Amino acid sequence: MALADYNKKRDFNVTAEPPGRVGSTATGRSFVIQKHAASRLHYDFRLELDGVLKSWSVPKGPSFDPSVKRLAVEVEDHPIDYGDFEGIIPAGQYGGGTVLLWDRGTWAPVGDAAKSLAAGELKFELQGEKLQGRFVLVKIKERPGRRGGQRLGPEDRSWLLIKERDAHVRPETQWSVTEAMPNSVATGREMAAIAAASDRVWHSNRDRPDPSALEGARAAALPAKKVVPASTPRR
Ligand code: MN
Repeated sequence: MALADYNKKRDFNVTAEPPGRVGSTATGRSFVIQKHAASRLHYDFRLELDGVLKSWSVPKGPSFDPSVKRLAVEVEDHPIDYGDFEGIIPAGQYGGGTVLLWDRGTWAPVGDAAKSLAAGELKFELQGEKLQGRFVLVKIKERPGRRGGQRLGPEDRSWLLIKERDAHVRPETQWSVTEAMPNSVATGREMAAIAAASDRVWHSNRDRPDPSALEGARAAALPAKKVVPASTPRR
């Protein structure tokens, strides 16, 4: 299952991040970049493909400069629902910290996306609110024999995110998109304002109604034994 890793890393009784479900947006080709102040700040770069968000963690974020190669570490696929999220992941949870919706839009692969991904070189065009034009993700190839046939560590999930030459190119020394445009495309907020707000903390009981607010509700002791029919599916 495409989202098994995603589900395994999260306790959905504690975090209200959406449980992994394969889905689709209207275009089927959305992209999103979430600026994530976790233990270390990074930018989560996500491309919708085959019902999930293929994801890379980019420590320094994207650049409009083709001479700048940004490390992009491949991480687990995320559900499409994740692409709307901006807010706080509770401390102690996987990825605990603040998430800012930094860019969003649509993308178009050059050639066959699934084949290009498998081959370790994916060329694509972005139409975002901040990022536009052609980019490439290139997988870093381990030098043969360097590790004596050992199973590779996190390095074998390392890619580079590079701007390709087109009309949108800008030298990093003159203009940095991450510095010039730090705020949320969804709310215009900066990271500190999101961290200080409590409106979007993901609590597992966020959508649960308060039963005591119901008309005619009365308090009662819990049953001695939890009654759960054997056929009840677990969420
Ligand atoms: Mn992250």
